[in-house]
Amino acid sequence: MPELPEVETIRRQLAPVVEGRRLQEMEILDPRWCAPALHVEVADAVRGRRIERLDRRGKYLVWELSADVHLLMHLRMTGNLLYAEDARFARVKLRLDDGNTVVFADQRRFGTGVVLLGSDARHDYFAARLGVEPLSADFTTEHLRELARGRRAPVKAFLLTQERIAGVGNIYADEALFIARIHPLRPVGTLRGPQLEALRQAVVKVLHDGIDARGATIDDFRHADGAEGSFQDRFLVHLRAGERCVRCGATIVKIRAAGRGTYVCPRCQRAPRTVAASS
Ligand SMILES: [Zn+2]
Repeated sequence: MPELPEVETIRRQLAPVVEGRRLQEMEILDPRWCAPALHVEVADAVRGRRIERLDRRGKYLVWELSADVHLLMHLRMTGNLLYAEDARFARVKLRLDDGNTVVFADQRRFGTGVVLLGSDARHDYFAARLGVEPLSADFTTEHLRELARGRRAPVKAFLLTQERIAGVGNIYADEALFIARIHPLRPVGTLRGPQLEALRQAVVKVLHDGIDARGATIDDFRHADGAEGSFQDRFLVHLRAGERCVRCGATIVKIRAAGRGTYVCPRCQRAPRTVAASS
């Protein structure tokens, strides 16, 4: 699934070619994309509007249109936005006034779109769904401590919860926990100050590294021009079960955390006692 760095990569590629253009027509080929809203009404709401800015919040791509209209897209599992005339698995086509087209292609059809009228509606929508933006100045160790306080959730599950920290998914959570030397099943509320600071720094680092590598392409993610990201070549633990830890040489193992395949170095990331006893 595209996480924050993948969505940010798409945003950076598309922004220069869509900002300032007019959205002549949004052709919704699959009405389920914007359900329960009616696809004809969604298309009407954006038709002819100028694209003021392409923004991002967590894993959402946000098209800020004239007259304070906001088109939010979530790519989910297999969604891609391609700067192309057409594509396989096209569900939506955005036709620009310069003759170019942006295609939303989505093989598994889990991606969604929503149009919100007014900045307040946008603010409320995100406030109900997303926590702190990890690359913003708001993501401080103190903020993280507040979020973690008293929680028994395993730290991996905590990192994946979008209502607490927006944009982190399975890949970047594994990488950040390895860098911070924290076991994914450690209850988040038991992390001490230095560990929370290490975790905050690691989350910021892996997200920046992911953006620098223009995202990770494991199966479906593509850039707006169809190219692939390269962060998968830099994974330290994710998908590396059976390989040696780059830091200590121990063998990376795959475990289950937050319902997801999770990769850890058993030496660098010491298991909490209850987990160690049962394994
Ligand atoms: Zn190690």
